Amino acid sequence: MTIRVAIVGSGPSGFYTAEALAKLDAGCEIDMIERLPAPHGLIRYGVAPDHQTTKNVSRNFDKTAARAEVRFYGNVDVGVDVSMADLREMYDAVVLAIGSPEDRTLGIPGEDKQGVIGSAAFVGWYNGHPDFVDLDPNLDSANVCVIGNGNVAIDIARLLVKTLGELAPSDITGDALDVIQASPVTDVYMLGRRGPVEAKFTNVELREMGKLEKCVPQIDGSVIPDSVPEGLEMSDRDRRLREKNLATLREFVGRPADELPKRVHFEFYAAPREILGGDHVEGIRLERTQVVDGRAVGTGEFFEIETSLVLPAVGYRSSGMAEIPFDDDNGIVFSDDGRVDDGLYAVGWIKRGPTGVIGTNRPDGQLAAKQILEDIPEGKKPGRQALEAALGSKGTRIVDYDDWLTLDALEKTQAREGAPREKLITVAAMLGVLDGA
Ligand code: NAP
Repeated sequence: MTIRVAIVGSGPSGFYTAEALAKLDAGCEIDMIERLPAPHGLIRYGVAPDHQTTKNVSRNFDKTAARAEVRFYGNVDVGVDVSMADLREMYDAVVLAIGSPEDRTLGIPGEDKQGVIGSAAFVGWYNGHPDFVDLDPNLDSANVCVIGNGNVAIDIARLLVKTLGELAPSDITGDALDVIQASPVTDVYMLGRRGPVEAKFTNVELREMGKLEKCVPQIDGSVIPDSVPEGLEMSDRDRRLREKNLATLREFVGRPADELPKRVHFEFYAAPREILGGDHVEGIRLERTQVVDGRAVGTGEFFEIETSLVLPAVGYRSSGMAEIPFDDDNGIVFSDDGRVDDGLYAVGWIKRGPTGVIGTNRPDGQLAAKQILEDIPEGKKPGRQALEAALGSKGTRIVDYDDWLTLDALEKTQAREGAPREKLITVAAMLGVLDGA
C-alpha cells in the first residue's frame, strides 16, 4: 500500500525531503504543506536578495514539485487550518520542516525598545515576507548597529550600504529599496563579541565588503592576529578558512574613512550590554571583551555608539508547535537523529538548529526518507484525500503549485528594470491575483 507522507514546510529541508522520497521510487505520495501561498521558505525569504545565484536552487525545487507523486498545499496553516494531531491521523508519516523562524534574544536591558529589530524580522522585511511588510524600521540615523559576526549580520550590513545600481539586479522589494536608498545611513557597525578568528562569516561574504561602490570597510589592524593561534582546536579546513578571513581583514586595514561616502566598521571584542534611550533606541552600550577559553569575557571597559536602529543578527530559533516534544532551551524538537515519535520526523533547522548552508539540508532529507521507508513497511492512512476533505469543509483556499507558478510568472513580469522579480508581499495580494480580486 502507498505510504503517504506530509511534509510541513516548503523551504530547503522540506524540498530536499520530498526530492529524496520521490527519488527512492517507493511509490510514496508526498504532500508539502506550507503556511504561505509561496513556497521555498528561506530561499525566498531568508537568502540575501542580492545573492541570486543561491536562489537558483529553487529551479530544482520546481522539478521536484512537478513530479507526479508530489503535491503542494500552500496557504494551509498547520495548527489553524488542520491540527498536527489530525495530520498524524491522516498520514503514515509527517515530516517537520518548519525551520527556525524566530530571533534569538540578547537578554540585555533595553532590548524591548522601539528600534531593536531582530534579523528574522529585518531580513524578512526587505525580502517581502508577508509577516514583516509593516515593519517600518526607523532608518533615520547616520549609524546603524548590527550585532553578530555571522553571515546574516554581514548580509544585512551589505544591503544597508549598497547603491541603487548595486541593488538593481536583486529581488529586494521596491518598498525596502526606496526606504534604504532614502535613508541617511552612512556608518554601519558590525559588532562582534569575540575576535576576528572567531567570526563566523565566510570569506566570499567578507571579501564583498571590500568591493562595494560607495562603502569602505574600517578595522583597527591591531586586533588582527598574525595567524590563527596554534592552540585552537579546529579542522584544517576551518583553520584555512579563518586564515583567509584574517588575510581579507588585513587588506581592509588603513583604507581611509573618507575614501567613500559610507563605512562598515568591523568592531571586534565588543559585547552589547544595554540598549539606551527612552521608548525608542538612542544608542547602545558595549563592553570591551577578551576571549578566554573561547568565551567572550568583559574587561570592564565600556563605550557607546549613538544610533536609532539596532539589528541583532545573533542566530535563529523556533518555538516549536503544539503537540510536539520540544527542547525550548535550544529551540529545536527533541528527536533521535530526526525520529521524533512514531510516524513523526524532523529535518533541517528544526532538527539540528540554525547552522550550515542551504545544501546542508540535503542529507537531512535523504536520511528522513530512508528512516520513513525503514519504519513504515506499508501505508495504512488516507493521506491527501482526508486532508482535502478537511480543508474543503473549513473553506481553506489551497494554493497549489500551478497557482504558485502563476504568481511566480506575474512577479517576473512586474520586475523593475534589471531585477529578477517584484514580489507580491501580502497574502491578500497573492490570493487576489489568483482569484481575480
Ligand atoms: P551564526 O553564524 O550562528 O552567527 C551568529 C553570530 O551572533 C555569531 O557571531 C555569534 O557570536 C553572535 N552572537 C550570538 N549571541 C550573541 C550575543 N548574545 N551577543 C553578541 N553576539 C552574539 O548565525 P547567522 O548569521 O544567523 O547564520 C545562520 C546560518 O545561516 C549560518 O550557518 C550561516 O552561515 C548561514 N548563512 C549563510 C549565508 C551564506 O552562505 N551566504 C548567508 C546567511 C546565513 P559567537 O560566535 O560569539 O557566538
